[in-house]
Amino acid sequence: MKSEEHSFDTLGMSESEMQRLGYRVVDLVIDYIRARHEKPAIKADSPASLWQQLGGQIPLDPGDPDAALAQLVAVAMENQQHGDHPRYFARVPGPSSFAAVLGEWLATGFNTMAASWGGGSGPTTVELVVIEWFRELLGLPVGTEGVLSSGGSMANLIAFGAAREAIGPGIVYMTDQAHSSLSRGLKEMGFAKELLRVIKSDANYRMPIDALREAVNADKKQNLKPMMVVATAGTTNTGVIDPLDEIASICQENRMWFHVDGAYGAPAAMCESERVKFKGLERADSLAVDPHKWLFQPYDVGCTLVTRRGALERAYTMTPEYLRDVQGSSDDIHGQEVDMRNRSLELSRRSRAIKIWMTMRTHGMNRIKTAISRGIELAEIAEKYILANSSVWELVTPAQLGVVTFAARTGGKIEHEAAVKRLADDGFAAVSTTSLHSRSVLRLCTINPLTTEEDIRETIDRLGNR
Ligand SMILES: *Cc1c(COP(=O)(O)O)cnc(C)c1O
Repeated sequence: MKSEEHSFDTLGMSESEMQRLGYRVVDLVIDYIRARHEKPAIKADSPASLWQQLGGQIPLDPGDPDAALAQLVAVAMENQQHGDHPRYFARVPGPSSFAAVLGEWLATGFNTMAASWGGGSGPTTVELVVIEWFRELLGLPVGTEGVLSSGGSMANLIAFGAAREAIGPGIVYMTDQAHSSLSRGLKEMGFAKELLRVIKSDANYRMPIDALREAVNADKKQNLKPMMVVATAGTTNTGVIDPLDEIASICQENRMWFHVDGAYGAPAAMCESERVKFKGLERADSLAVDPHKWLFQPYDVGCTLVTRRGALERAYTMTPEYLRDVQGSSDDIHGQEVDMRNRSLELSRRSRAIKIWMTMRTHGMNRIKTAISRGIELAEIAEKYILANSSVWELVTPAQLGVVTFAARTGGKIEHEAAVKRLADDGFAAVSTTSLHSRSVLRLCTINPLTTEEDIRETIDRLGNR
């Protein structure tokens, strides 16, 4: 800090230095985004090498912030999966957009707080507005409430807490295609294994309605209480949607909570052309969506939506006297002061809504829907290419919500894993293998609108070149 310059930074950085380094960070990020596609989609280094470069003595005296930034970019940010790379097809990509990054930076710069109305009525309103926009885009009933959290794992867990508060403890039903974070969440809530029914998915990896009905009836005969069905709208493995409408009816008949895990797939329901596949979603008691997957947001942000009014507050309120206010509140959501700390397990919490609001205001939903639709189309292009090369590949599941799975005609798990490793090692592309009813498959998730058709063909070709 230059002595003539007064500093208003808590730790004494001068204004000119704040500006210089701030613009430097913007340049570093844009340099990354501009050249992203020419760099590896994924990169990893050994623990010893990374510790050697990033560790060392505790810094006691001031260092060079330019050197620190350069080292972070070259070492820390370099060695990771680049989920926003156009050839990152593994697990679920994270094609984040710059408008969202701007919102994130701004929110962090202003140290936003969205815990209570009194301490954050502005950021809280942004969150309520974003949740209301999602509600409408997803076709959920008026009066639906919600809360943002760190991602799908937490968003589902938050809904489970509301469900147990509303229904009481009981049996939970899901299929073998449900995301593995769900049973972990239930376990941490204290659900014993015996309270969980994992139903074998049908030949299309969907929840078989007859088997669900039988399981519920069998439990009732044993005097056990069916509590909740967890359906998936867009499974991570194959992108398939469980039969939501039929599951909703079973839940209604048996007074169970109907939860939909749409962490991956729900954004597709915002596109009119896809909406019919989600029939029954509007009957859900709760829904999880992950904006850091298919709504072009940087990590992290998940969203829980609950259609039963007051259910979140009944589960999570910290101050019992508050409940009276909630129950007596009017139907007019615009007239309510909401304390977001009473809707999940987080008390101090930053505003994750700012980046979403900024993205939607900047680009508009029509642009965002086009970007979502492109992801669906790209998987269809991949499917066509796999079918056109049927001497090498067998299509295992068709393109569904941006996911396609396929297998080598000759070879299995070992060959698939070797092919994926080869691509990751030279950095050309990141692809996942997964297991479908014990069969090893290769899987592409194509939700990045920057991916080209050539990227897809070249990736599939390289997977086949042994
Ligand atoms: C990714 C995913 C999750 C977990 O979400 P995180 O944001 O990684 O915590 C849960 N369910 C489904 C269907 C997912 O695809």
